[in-house]
Amino acid sequence: MKNTEQIWDLIDAKREDFLALSDRVWGTPEICYTEFKSVAEHTAMLKAQGFKMTEDYCGIPTAVMGEAGEGGPVIAILGEYDALPGLSQEAGVAEHRPLPGNGHGHGCGHNMLGSAALLAATALKDWLAATGKPGRVRYYGCPAEEGGAAKGFMVRAGAFKDVDIAITWHPAAMTKVDEALSLANTRMDFTFTGRASHAAAAPHLGRSALDAVELMNVGVNYLREHVPADSRIHYALIDSGGVAPNVVQAKATVRYAVRSRDVANMVSLNERVRKVAQGAAMMTETQVEIRVISAVSNLLGNTPLEQAMYQNLQRLGGVPFDDADRDFAAKIQATLSEEDIDSSYARAGVKRDGDKPLCDFVVPLEVRGEPMIGSTDVGDVSWVVPTVQARVATHAIGTPGHSWQITAQGKSGSAHKGLIYAAKAMAGTAVDALADPALIERSKADLAQRTARHPYASPIPANVQPPIVQRPAA
Ligand SMILES: [Zn+2]
Repeated sequence: MKNTEQIWDLIDAKREDFLALSDRVWGTPEICYTEFKSVAEHTAMLKAQGFKMTEDYCGIPTAVMGEAGEGGPVIAILGEYDALPGLSQEAGVAEHRPLPGNGHGHGCGHNMLGSAALLAATALKDWLAATGKPGRVRYYGCPAEEGGAAKGFMVRAGAFKDVDIAITWHPAAMTKVDEALSLANTRMDFTFTGRASHAAAAPHLGRSALDAVELMNVGVNYLREHVPADSRIHYALIDSGGVAPNVVQAKATVRYAVRSRDVANMVSLNERVRKVAQGAAMMTETQVEIRVISAVSNLLGNTPLEQAMYQNLQRLGGVPFDDADRDFAAKIQATLSEEDIDSSYARAGVKRDGDKPLCDFVVPLEVRGEPMIGSTDVGDVSWVVPTVQARVATHAIGTPGHSWQITAQGKSGSAHKGLIYAAKAMAGTAVDALADPALIERSKADLAQRTARHPYASPIPANVQPPIVQRPAA
């Protein structure tokens, strides 16, 4: 247990600096490849802690990588710091009160995610220096998890080529080792081009792109009955062609997200959705152009690393919330429905036990919840490097993902305690791997077995680049 206590002490020694980092990033919510202030905060912290840094990592202006240590295995700790549109919210209040500004908010808790990951990496760096052990730790500051698939592009650029294991976490309602259930996901734009004309005087001369979009959506809605039950298809109108009903719309774009349990299923479903689009184009005598925006793979679990991380969670016990934390979480719960609260338990696979506002226990490793049917770009990392994630309680049980309630709790006592706990869980798992090379070998064998039938291929087409935004002039 000596290693465990040593690494926890190293985390506690720097806790205030990293809680402040998380709170600052909460205060500058930035979305999808525009995280310039957030990456500057993380870069400044890497510098202050003495990491060797690579800025504009993989050609992405809002990505950064810091490394420390010599020789030995390479441990990657993955952080994020992107926010979400529309989830602006005042901190510490249990009623919906957006802040003035651009409307963005940390409604997925990535301010905590990034700060805890960087704290874990810093403590590991300090541990390597104190013990003189061989080993390298890398902090990957990853932007655009929400809809930007940055890690997928980073994997494709070779960022994880020489990494031995990867560790990360996500803020949550319940504390547990992540079950590694997520869907492969492709985002595609279908742009139809027809011919404009006067909708009353010469409708026969027009070819409506908007009709094509509508027919495509109808076709996909029929397709839905004949796809695997765990697939998901949804769409948003990006361009309906204009606001004038007396013009036949010559151009219209619909964006689709197509999700399946794994990449192979997603690729075949993508093909079927494309056929529907081509059918709609044929019916309306329009042309369709299909553009992939981004794509992510499903998550792969890793049994040896999950066991190692679970031992760390057990050693830590539950997150040590206090009465003030429980009090605020109960106020947040009053804004939720019973169904929200029940679904938190169902997702974690835990029987509801009274009216606990916060999860102060660790969900056993063998407990399986209802699958989380979202997607994450950690998926692509998990196909090329043995990867493990913790979910750590930072907010009230029942808080929906991507909600103003997560933003409201993002600087609270529960957020801070969860952040420190997550850093300890990640750093503890990393120390176990550095102390036991056999664990790393077993985790690699596990990954090799999981990918034997379908080796990794990036789901992002070769000609698709990340939609980066250039750094604004200072
Ligand atoms: Zn998230």
